Parts: sequence; structure tokens; C-alpha cells
Amino acid sequence: MKKQKSPQVIIIGRPNVGKSTLFNRLVGKRLALVDDQPGVTRDRRFGAAHLIDMEFTAVDTAGWEDDDPSSLPGRMRAQTEVSLKGADVALFVFDARAGITPLEEEIARWLRGENVPVVLVGNKAEGKTGDAGLLESYALGLGEPVPLSAEHGEGMVELFEALQPLLEKAEPEEADGEIQPPEVDVPVELDENGEVVDGKHNAFAPLHLAIVGRPNAGKSTLVNRFLGEDRLLTGPEAGITRDSISVDWVWDDAKTGMKRPIRLVDTAGMRKKSRVTEKLERMSVVDAQRSIDYAEVVVLLLDATRGLEAQDLKIANLVLEEGRALIIAINKWDVAEEPSSLFNGIRGALEEGLAQLRGVPLIAVSAVTGKGLDALLNAAFEVREAWSRRIPTSALNRWFDDALAANPPPAPGGKRIKLRYITQNKTRPPTFVVFGTRLDALPKSYERYLMNSIRRDLDFGAVPVRLNMRSAK
Ligand code: GDP
Ligand code: GDP
Repeated sequence: MKKQKSPQVIIIGRPNVGKSTLFNRLVGKRLALVDDQPGVTRDRRFGAAHLIDMEFTAVDTAGWEDDDPSSLPGRMRAQTEVSLKGADVALFVFDARAGITPLEEEIARWLRGENVPVVLVGNKAEGKTGDAGLLESYALGLGEPVPLSAEHGEGMVELFEALQPLLEKAEPEEADGEIQPPEVDVPVELDENGEVVDGKHNAFAPLHLAIVGRPNAGKSTLVNRFLGEDRLLTGPEAGITRDSISVDWVWDDAKTGMKRPIRLVDTAGMRKKSRVTEKLERMSVVDAQRSIDYAEVVVLLLDATRGLEAQDLKIANLVLEEGRALIIAINKWDVAEEPSSLFNGIRGALEEGLAQLRGVPLIAVSAVTGKGLDALLNAAFEVREAWSRRIPTSALNRWFDDALAANPPPAPGGKRIKLRYITQNKTRPPTFVVFGTRLDALPKSYERYLMNSIRRDLDFGAVPVRLNMRSAK
């Protein structure tokens, strides 16, 4: 494959608006920096960035931070004119919470005089907190702002939509109409305990998806349905380990018009079934175990004509114990009888069978007609986002104070157990540490209260969450 010069996207803005955070999110783990301009890297960082199926070089100008902000515009002209000339698009980032300051106006005036397309980005816009700032920013005369949260990975789709037409224009014509397979990077990394190694999450890295379920639930039919359309880009290949198989494909999301890379990992339906083991019911648990190891999100496929069985709960439990994000799909919906009572019946039986399944996405699908499959894949990307989310420590502790106030820890023997502080030390799955004193006396029920409140109040849904208690001396 011939290497083409990748388009350059320069990230600019006053200090502290989140330029580096956005840079890191776009570049993710690929921080093998392209140091092609020695001497200027103190002021600029270059990184190979990836947004959905788009690749470009991101240029972070965080080096300005070291300077006195009041002298920024002058310095910016001197330092940045050079790099701006080389850029195909400028991302002009402002802090949507702080709104528009005189520095933004200055930068906007300058940018309007330059011959580079600008995408205006209102960062820190998680929740509704940035609405006023976003409105203000129209006055800059740079068009509609893209609201996003670089820290939480929200709004990246909107950023993609704003950037894509500009980068397409910048890109040299392809020599031929050949489709390039998506860049599929390393499988989920596992440490010696089989835990997913916590790396920087890239929202647009291929989704590692496993489909599990009892024999005859329709796993093979579903995989074929996915791959049968023009989605298959690479054939089945020996994948992550000797005995696992994965297939990479690109899901064409008709609703948003986006192409999203997915890796189906070690799906039993893709393997040649051994005639001996095929009939053994317990094999589906063994199969599931292996798939789960390599997945970020696991779809448990139920059979609408059979309802929920004990085996299904066993697999669901396994997925959550392994800390993977779970979705449950009821397949064969095309032949389901009394669909609405069936659906509610299964929802109830799931929650009754396993309390942790409260809030798990439950989706009716048909591998034969294709019903519900886009909803299923959308849900899969959503739960991966939650599974990979990091809650900033300050927000987390604000929540923690409220949770403790609403239901204070008990005081066995008249001595109160003190819980001081909480941090999230890991994502994928979200893992929290609570520091406190007299923790041996803390009842398990209180830990469960905290865990359930985290999931409910911080929007983790049914994503498995881990909570560790640590003594603060
Ligand atoms: P830069 O100086 O423009 O490169 O800004 P940084 O990337 O260093 O971010 C400045 C501060 O804003 C840091 O404390 C970040 O954690 C915070 N920040 C960045 N992005 C967001 C966001 O999307 N939401 C919120 N609430 N804070 C953010
Ligand atoms: P697996 O053992 O889980 O891989 O299941 P298969 O994909 O082999 O499917 C088992 C049977 O269910 C086959 O006869 C399929 O044709 C049928 N099947 C799978 N999906 C559907 C569906 O959505 N609707 C209907 N009506 N039948 C389905």
C-alpha cells in the first residue's frame, strides 16, 4: 500500500480549554509521535489520529501553555502561522462552560483572515452545562459549534461529521476505487489475570464483540446475516490465539450514515462444530468463556421460541463476573408468539434471576429478517462507551458526599465508620476504590448500596462495576 501524506488537523485555542485532552482522545494509544519537524516539537505534538474510519495527523499546540496567556495572540501569530499553513483543517477549541472570552475573539479574528477551514469546537459540554457558551460562540462568525466532551468522549460523532467533508476535500484522489480495509489494531490486551489492560480508550477503535448463547439460539445465522451483506472486508482468519477466530467487518449504520468497524471475536458460529461436542449443552458455557475473554461487549442471544432458561442466566452471570459489558438479544422475534408479554416476561425473569441484570439492554431481533440488528449494534457501541468511561475524581466525590449523606454508613458499637474519598482507578470495567477507616466493620450490604448507586446515578446502566475498599491510615 502506498503511503500517502495524511491530512493535518491542527488543534488551537487558549490554554486550559482541553486541547491536549482532545488530542489524546483522537490519538489514543497511537502516541508514536510523528516527529517530522525537529526543533518545533516543544511547541507542537504530532500524533496519528483516528476518528471512525478517518485517519489524519493531529497537531496539538499545547506548548503555548507555558507562556503568559496575555501575550498569546502575538506569540500565536509568530509560532503558528507556520504550522497553520501546513494544516488542512483547524479545530478551534473553546471551553463551553467558561463561554467566549476576549482571547477567543482575538483568535477568531485571526483565523477568519487565514485560508484554512475552521471547525469550532465547544469542549467540556457534557450534560447541558455548556449550552450558554455554545450559544455565545455563534458570535465568533465561524459557524455552528460542535459540542463535545473530550474528557468523556462525547460528541465525537458530531466532530467526525464536521471534519469529514473538509478532510475529504483535502485528501488526494485515490489511485483507484479500491476499498481499504479498516485499520484493525491489536486485540484487547489482557494481563496475566485475564483482565483487560486499561489503555486509553479510543471510541472508534474496532468494537470487539462476542455473540454467545445456547446451541440453536441462532448465533451462526446472525453472524452470517452480519457478514452476508456487503459488510465483509476480510475473511475469517486465524486470530488472537491458536484456537480463536475473529472476523473484521464494517457496519454501515444506515441511520447515521456512519461506518463503524467491528471485530466479531471467537464466535462459536464461526467455528467448525465438532460433531461430538455440539450436542453437549454445557459446551455453550465453555464456548462463551473463550469468546468473553476477547470481547469488550458480549451479546447473549436468547431464543424467543424457548424463552429464558437456566443456562442463559449462567452465561449472563459469567459475562458480568468477567467484567464485560452485556447485552441480551431475543432472537427469532419473527416467529415469537404474543411478543409483548414474552418481552416483559423475559425482562422480569432476568431481573428476578440475577439482580445485576437490572438495566441491561434487552433487544428483540431476528437474524432471519434483520429486525432490530441496527438497534443491537448501536446498543453495543453505547455500552462500550459506558464500560470505558472515566468519571473525574471531583465529580465522583461530589456524588460520593451525597450518597453518604443520603444513607450514612452504620456505626457499629457506637463508632462511626468513616468513608473519606473515592477514585476511579480503572476503566473497562469501571473500577472504584473507596478509602476509609474501620472498613472491616462495614457490612457487605453497604458496599452493595454504593455499587448500585454508582451504576444508577452515574449512568453505568448494567455495565459491571467493581468496588474495592482500602484503609486510609
Ligand atoms: P489545554 O491546555 O487546552 O491543552 O487543556 P487540557 O487538555 O490540559 O485540559 C485542561 C483541563 O480541562 C484539564 O483539567 C482537563 O481535565 C479539563 N478538561 C478537558 N476536557 C474536558 C471536558 O470535556 N470536560 C471537562 N469537564 N473538563 C475537561
Ligand atoms: P446456533 O447454534 O446458535 O449457531 O444457531 P443457528 O444459527 O444454527 O440457528 C439454529 C436454527 O434457528 C436454524 O434452523 C436457523 O435457521 C434458525 N434461526 C436462527 N435465527 C432465526 C430467526 O431470527 N428467526 C427464525 N425464524 N429462525 C431462526
